[in-house]
Amino acid sequence: MSNDTSSNMASGVKIHPAVDAGITPAAPNFSGGTLTCQCATNPVTVEIKSQVAHNHVCGCTKCWKPAGTLFSQVAVVGRDKLTVTANADKLAIVDPSATIQRYACRDCGVHMYGRIENTAHPFHGLDFVHTELSRESGWAAPEFAAFVSSIIESGARPENMGAVRARLVELGLPPYDALSPALMDAISTHVAKARGVLQEA
Ligand SMILES: [Zn+2]
Ligand SMILES: [Zn+2]
Repeated sequence: MSNDTSSNMASGVKIHPAVDAGITPAAPNFSGGTLTCQCATNPVTVEIKSQVAHNHVCGCTKCWKPAGTLFSQVAVVGRDKLTVTANADKLAIVDPSATIQRYACRDCGVHMYGRIENTAHPFHGLDFVHTELSRESGWAAPEFAAFVSSIIESGARPENMGAVRARLVELGLPPYDALSPALMDAISTHVAKARGVLQEA
């Protein structure tokens, strides 16, 4: 039923501004744009010269998210497609010990990109970006919700998780408590090949 109490409650749950009013599909042949931090003067800008992949909303406590939202929105792009084009001196790594080195603007706090330097990591070569920082439209749409249970660690009420998951399903974003099955399989395939457990088919 589309108008029962639980679905009305789910519809009132705010996930992220980029998806709360419904999801905008990607534009065909979209080829990138410019991310800009939130500083009114001397913003950091990052140019991306391709479409992004694996866009999703993420409930982890590490991804940058707009104030007051439960989820971030994050996608990946080849590191060779990403260039800092202005005010690079304002960027600092949030946590140098983390797997993903998240480069944040020192003045406004926005994360401009995240990079993995460990060449053995399954996602090495991919940078993590927030396409909402761009004025261009046409970016790949979010496909799923990752690390949903982790929003409790940011202050979400455990008793509301049913409504949060129902809203994600309603938006067409299957909720997972890790990454999506496709990405979890990609990680394990990488590990199995590295260990010699799995040979090329
Ligand atoms: Zn800034
Ligand atoms: Zn995250």
